[in-house]
Amino acid sequence: MPNVYQRLGVRTIINAKGPSTRLSGGVMRPEAAAAMAEAAGFCVDIAELQARAGALIAAATGAEAGYVTSGAAAGLLLGTAACVTGIDPGRMNRLPDLAGMRDEVLVARSQRNFYDHAVRGVGVRLVEVGLADRYAGAGVRDAEAWEFADAIGERTAAIFYVATPEARPRLPDLVRVARARGVPVVVDAAAQLPPRENLRRFIAEGADLVAYSGGKAIGGPQASGILCGRRDLIMAAALQHLDMDVIFDQWSPPAALIDKSLLPGAPQHGIGRPCKVGKEEIVGLVTALALFIAEGDAAPRARWLRLANELAKGLEGLNNAVVRVLDEPRRPVPMVELALDEAAARTTALALAKTLQDGDPSIHVDPSRVDDGIVLFGPACLGDGEPAIVARRVRQLLTGVA
Ligand SMILES: *Cc1c(COP(=O)(O)O)cnc(C)c1O
Repeated sequence: MPNVYQRLGVRTIINAKGPSTRLSGGVMRPEAAAAMAEAAGFCVDIAELQARAGALIAAATGAEAGYVTSGAAAGLLLGTAACVTGIDPGRMNRLPDLAGMRDEVLVARSQRNFYDHAVRGVGVRLVEVGLADRYAGAGVRDAEAWEFADAIGERTAAIFYVATPEARPRLPDLVRVARARGVPVVVDAAAQLPPRENLRRFIAEGADLVAYSGGKAIGGPQASGILCGRRDLIMAAALQHLDMDVIFDQWSPPAALIDKSLLPGAPQHGIGRPCKVGKEEIVGLVTALALFIAEGDAAPRARWLRLANELAKGLEGLNNAVVRVLDEPRRPVPMVELALDEAAARTTALALAKTLQDGDPSIHVDPSRVDDGIVLFGPACLGDGEPAIVARRVRQLLTGVA
């Protein structure tokens, strides 16, 4: 029986890169996919479902409140909007016109990246802080907490922070400065799972809002994510995301998510309405989240290491490349590194990546180090048996033997 992609005439690929939106995310946990199919057969009040999911997310993260978004980037847009408007429905209706509102968001210059388009989408201006001369090899510093204190002004609506192990200032130091001035900190932690402990870490360190992807390590729907944090901000986010085609007097939102008594009236459809989330995504996300938490870090790591070792073994003995498994504690997912002797191989790492991708089956690798002659392979989206297929194809290309 041909699968759905065969019926559509679309080829499937071997994803030796890792979860990536461009490659349709990862592979969803089968239990999450089954829960989505079941969810599709009923109707519910979507705000009630979000409130229940939010309670589960709050328990999982240690945050006051939680919410299911259509991805981490959507979470950044909703979170930024929440910081700008608070629970004022007039302000919500006026976005992205920021007249009369705080209209700047601070970010360390070294943390600028193109996902911050989601923050700018609210209409705010990003104000870069610090000068990270350590990246230029000309110095030793990155942005420092005192520089944020110096940059906070009357227009500052929030501080945007992109969490990585290298990010500076460290989050607790930044939070101290932000709290003293009453400015919320919004954390992009999209890809900071695993380790599982990072589900609680940024909230514990004082972040006001944290965004995660649901379709990366959690193994939920590709178009899902988590936003968690302060109750008032999650309420503001929900009000700008939920479908608001309601009559105020008829409207009875779940109190755990939206405290109606605080509102003079209901806002209309908000700036987050285009990032809509279906019941299927909500159910799929909470199902996957429970499994992600239950399984811990050791079992998936062991599986990835087995796949990585299989691939590396299949690539042993090449005379124009050095292959090793990168299995270091600081690396949440082990990788396989193939360092090409480009002269001996008479090809480049980039050309090898492209040829793999254009072949049959199409194999996608991690191209982030091709400039150094290195092709990286990530095991997180590989199925059993696929390392052997990848190894065979790479060998074929590097030895010229069909
Ligand atoms: C993946 C990623 C995003 C986007 O996440 P989605 O869930 O696809 O919206 C944002 N920021 C960072 C750092 C990411 O790695």
